[in-house]
Amino acid sequence: MSIVVVGSVAFDTVRTPFGEVDNALGGAATFFSVAASYFSPVNVVAVVGDDFGEEHLAVFEEHGVDARGIERAPGRTFRWGGEYSLNLNERTTLFTELNVFESFQPKLPPEYLESPYVFLANIDPELQMSVLEQVEAPRLVACDTMNFWIDGKLEALQRLLRKVDVLVVNDEEARELSECYNLVAAANAIMGMGPTAVVIKRGEYGVLAFLGNDVFFAPAYPLDRLADPTGAGDTFAGGFMGYLATCGKLDPASLRRAIVAGSVMASFCVEEFSLAGIRNLDQEAIARRYRAFQLLTEFGDL
Ligand code: AMP
Repeated sequence: MSIVVVGSVAFDTVRTPFGEVDNALGGAATFFSVAASYFSPVNVVAVVGDDFGEEHLAVFEEHGVDARGIERAPGRTFRWGGEYSLNLNERTTLFTELNVFESFQPKLPPEYLESPYVFLANIDPELQMSVLEQVEAPRLVACDTMNFWIDGKLEALQRLLRKVDVLVVNDEEARELSECYNLVAAANAIMGMGPTAVVIKRGEYGVLAFLGNDVFFAPAYPLDRLADPTGAGDTFAGGFMGYLATCGKLDPASLRRAIVAGSVMASFCVEEFSLAGIRNLDQEAIARRYRAFQLLTEFGDL
């Protein structure tokens, strides 16, 4: 079953202790689409400027992602710059240029309207809402956001959350949105805002998920080589939604497996800069890493 995703398609300038890239293809919807494409069909909604070349569009095509919903508008593509601390856990945003996203009014191609799975990747909550309103009968709506929107568009975000099933955020965002430091309290407060599940990404400390009454923890995969965490959250969401869309079930066991599928994809993402870690994967590599995750936390009876 297919997924429709709206979010940023961007050029990222990233500095980490292990290197840097200038104007590399990125954006939340891009990382999401490439990651989800290994599991299920993806329809992407975004806007790019006239500086966005065919070689960038080809990345979507190479992964079988339907890019008819990427509109081209006069002006510059969304640009973001960030710098990471030595331990890669802290990030400073150097700049955010919305550019063509500032006046974007998404209009979904007719082929997208019946997609049962909807992912509202990180972008203005008003744009997220406008996409959600166009999808006819979504089966599962998941959403991401970030401090930029919690600070700047809180009311629009709260309106949106009433219509969302799963919120996928990092720990700082969960704390800021709920105004609770404790993550259990934060998840409960967020579930009071609309979502029935809250998936909290904790970087190298893994994922803590509140799935209705079920609580699940998945570790991050211990890697000896980390290059760039940019997009890991969106890549996680791509694996998570992609798995759910392909398995067709939403019971607790399937949600748990989806969280591990997301963690598998995120572990590939952080190994390289930009999209390089997830562009050339195959099913065998994904299955091998999934098995490695199983072994990581497998222990017998006492
Ligand atoms: P993540 O590392 O998962 O937070 O995602 C990083 C990606 O989000 C980068 O590729 C950026 O282009 C994109 N991004 C950064 N800030 C924003 C924003 N305010 N709105 C939408 N996308 C953003």
